[in-house]
Amino acid sequence: MSERSCANCHTPLINKRSHAKYCSDRCRVKQWRAYREDSVHVSFRLPVAHHIDLFLAAYSVKQTVDTYLNKLVSNHLDKKHLACNQ
Ligand SMILES: [Zn+2]
Repeated sequence: MSERSCANCHTPLINKRSHAKYCSDRCRVKQWRAYREDSVHVSFRLPVAHHIDLFLAAYSVKQTVDTYLNKLVSNHLDKKHLACNQ
């Protein structure tokens, strides 16, 4: 058995669909609001070829471009931050 739990309240996800991340709509909305309040919307230009590569890379791991780019940039900045502190 996997030990998945709600991303908001950490209640074990029993009898939930395999890709469910939250125990309830209440928790899903709560987490989404927290994310919205703690983030900013960014818009920038990208060469078309890079946009296609980005879209395909995200698609290949079944993520939205938004989620994929978020993880990519966050990982990059986390590494940079770690390097600065050494
Ligand atoms: Zn929950």
